[in-house]
Amino acid sequence: MIWYFQNYQKTFDFPFPKMREDIIIIGQGLAGSILALQSIERGKRVFIIDEGKINTSSKIAAGLVNPITGRRFVKSWKFDELSAYARNFYRDMEARFGEHFIFDLPLIRVVEDRRFVDDIEAKTMDEHYGKFIQRTEVPKQSYIADSPLTYKVNHAFRVDISNLIEACRKYFEKIGCFLESNFKFDRLNVQEGHIEYENRKASTIVFCEGAAGRNNPFFDYLPFQPTKGELFELKQDHLLHFAYKHDLALIPKDSDILWCGALNFWEFTDDKPSNEGEMILLQKLKKFYRPTPFIHRHLAAIRPTVKDRRPLIGQHPSLKRLYIFNGLGTKGTLLAPYFGNQLLDLIENNEPLLKEVDIGRFADLQNAK
Ligand SMILES: Cc1cc2nc3c(=O)[nH]c(=O)nc-3n(C[C@H](O)[C@H](O)[C@H](O)COP(=O)(O)OP(=O)(O)OC[C@H]3O[C@@H](n4cnc5c(N)ncnc54)[C@H](O)[C@@H]3O)c2cc1C
Repeated sequence: MIWYFQNYQKTFDFPFPKMREDIIIIGQGLAGSILALQSIERGKRVFIIDEGKINTSSKIAAGLVNPITGRRFVKSWKFDELSAYARNFYRDMEARFGEHFIFDLPLIRVVEDRRFVDDIEAKTMDEHYGKFIQRTEVPKQSYIADSPLTYKVNHAFRVDISNLIEACRKYFEKIGCFLESNFKFDRLNVQEGHIEYENRKASTIVFCEGAAGRNNPFFDYLPFQPTKGELFELKQDHLLHFAYKHDLALIPKDSDILWCGALNFWEFTDDKPSNEGEMILLQKLKKFYRPTPFIHRHLAAIRPTVKDRRPLIGQHPSLKRLYIFNGLGTKGTLLAPYFGNQLLDLIENNEPLLKEVDIGRFADLQNAK
């Protein structure tokens, strides 16, 4: 009887008993956490495996969602739809976990390059852009140098990703569907109707390994173009009530910490904070931050960026039990809730993904391999 209650969720194959799941998820960063939560919400049995790395993209990200990006102030791809979906999702997570994860945060951007000013000014009058951008004066801050040309970006927000994934991990552990372990590809047995991994059997496996996905032997034909990010966390007594973007972004975090970053390296040999990174961060900071910076932490991680800057989502072209949810790049906070849901629609109901994110767009690369 006791045996039955301890194992009531699990079915067994004889003579070799295996625990049966609907979906095994590899990686519990933002992508894996959100996909697991959405799967559980749909009544799926999930099992998540994560190696517990400390410096992952999700753990050090600012979690900023910025509607207007780049030097030319361009509206982020599908912003209205994605941000409405993301906001609802994160609010639901707040209700589920009883914690605060999402913070409205006006963003003030400094424009140094005067070549773009006319274009930006025109956008402040435009019917699609006007509600997002307005000329503003930065409220005087003792520790930020005055800048002559600043714009306020409305409808930005920040999600505390590291706290969110920490809350998810505790929840997954509590309901017994989490294992801290390094996933080994040579132990995966792919059959036509299911997959097996160690003592588990599942209909589907979804790889959410972030930048490590470029070493995944099933999906290594995809054009990952990872970038290394480096940042400081600064101790600062009087925090801003807005995010401030000059050469670097300053984003208020916790009670006395300013997130300050991030650098973007296309070439790198490791994922550790570097002396070069420290030097460049200090140089950039000097341009607009007045006090001697009190560096609380210097952090680095690799972003799962992609050549065409769109996510890598979908079903393996020939091994139909294998899926990928990756390539969230610099915008995981905005993209993950909406596209996690789309991926589950594909897995459950065979509903097509948006073409721009579907890995089917790289079928020729797989054929060429
Ligand atoms: C400096 C920096 C700043 C950023 N700022 C922002 C921002 O402001 N806004 C925003 O939206 N995005 C930002 N991002 C990007 C954001 O972090 C990513 O889009 C997102 O977090 C990626 O999530 P992920 O789950 O795909 O990958 P990851 O966070 O890398 O998670 C992958 C997980 O898989 C695990 N894993 C990998 N291989 C294995 C294996 N073999 N076995 C077991 N586990 C494995 C890893 O341990 C990890 O936990 C930033 C990134 C960086 C680096």
